[in-house]
Amino acid sequence: MNAEIIAIGSEMLTPWRQDTNSLFVTERLNTLGVSVAFKTIVGDRPKHLVDAIRNAVRRTDVIVVMGGLGPTEDDLTREAAAEALKIEIKRNHDLIAQMYARAAQRRVTMPRNNEKQADVLEGAEILENPKGSAPGQWLDTVYGTHRKLVMLLPGPPSELESMFEAECIPRLQAALPRRFIATRVLKAALIPESQADARIAPIYKQFTDVETTILAHLGDIQINLICGKTAMDMAQARVDALASRIEEELDDFVYSSHGESLEQIVLYYLEMKGATLSVAESCTGGLVAERLTSISGSSRSFYGGAVVYSNELKMEFADVPPSVLERHGAVSKETAEALAEGIRERCDTTLGVGVTGIAGPTGGTEEKPVGLVYISVSDGKTTDVVERRFTGDRSRVRSYAAQTALDMVRRRLM
Ligand code: ATP
Ligand code: MG
Repeated sequence: MNAEIIAIGSEMLTPWRQDTNSLFVTERLNTLGVSVAFKTIVGDRPKHLVDAIRNAVRRTDVIVVMGGLGPTEDDLTREAAAEALKIEIKRNHDLIAQMYARAAQRRVTMPRNNEKQADVLEGAEILENPKGSAPGQWLDTVYGTHRKLVMLLPGPPSELESMFEAECIPRLQAALPRRFIATRVLKAALIPESQADARIAPIYKQFTDVETTILAHLGDIQINLICGKTAMDMAQARVDALASRIEEELDDFVYSSHGESLEQIVLYYLEMKGATLSVAESCTGGLVAERLTSISGSSRSFYGGAVVYSNELKMEFADVPPSVLERHGAVSKETAEALAEGIRERCDTTLGVGVTGIAGPTGGTEEKPVGLVYISVSDGKTTDVVERRFTGDRSRVRSYAAQTALDMVRRRLM
């Protein structure tokens, strides 16, 4: 079953306002087993509204229209829906009476043009709006030969959300075939999206009943699996089967099989092994520590460390020998190793991490270009170090460096 969400309002076609309601509605529709096939944003122009709604009823079965239900001139959703669906509008006198009664209760006079909000599509049910004045409408109708579920909902996010939750979800559940939705979220670190997709596409393409989406962000890949079936165990079995196949293929790139973040997994492994961690960060300026400390309970295994941006502090706080800095420079394999070893000693932890690099955009040289980062993990006996050349702006280089540091700790603990 496919849906289209239509967000109405010229302000969302400017650079200053965004349609956020559709994110909420999409999430809720997905849990009911309805996928969103189209999202449309349309300005407050009568012809464009009619076109948008007509397109939607032609190509999808569930249509959620949001905004333009208010009392003002530019609130035209009711009229546009009537025209697009070829349905009459009737002014509902009970609703008008209620509106006057409510205004009287609040000791305000209701402006005459508010009566427009009592215009109801023939056959529609009225949806109460306890948070605002514009009621919504639910229409279970036939267009051509197909059944269509059309909702007209208010634009203000709090009104939309409570109305969708209280009025639309129960009606959708009753109208739609009963579906049980199982989901799985897998996460992988530091594998390029194109490579991940090339490797797993042949697998997920065999699972035509599971919807697979891949999101990539700064060295982090999230693979979402969703399946709807008439019984929960059937749906769960399908997503689990696909998840296992993907995990097998991506092997140790996969760090999480139920959606946990990389920092959560690192802390989980640390705790499981009874190990502790400290960090000495130069170019990441505390990003590694920030990610770890964002997790509640991290103090059990993450002790802390130092942001050692200057050479002086690299020596003072992480005991980097002056000779290492002189001979190899602050951005070097040797300095990263000395940072990891030094901070581990100073903090008395099982593992120490050192990060040093050139985040840019200035400070690069031919020999040591912007994006060059060294990351090291030491346990006192063995010290691993990697050299990476990240591309992109300062913030991207720093994020990749922090991601790599966390992933190295994970791999060390695995
Ligand atoms: P009202 O009775 O308040 O006029 P309405 O149904 O006519 O209700 P709109 O006038 O379209 O709603 O929008 C009201 C407010 O909600 C505006 O500030 C608008 O920016 C915001 N809004 C509308 N649609 C969305 C959306 N899709 N996502 C986020 N905000 C929205
Ligand atoms: Mg309005």
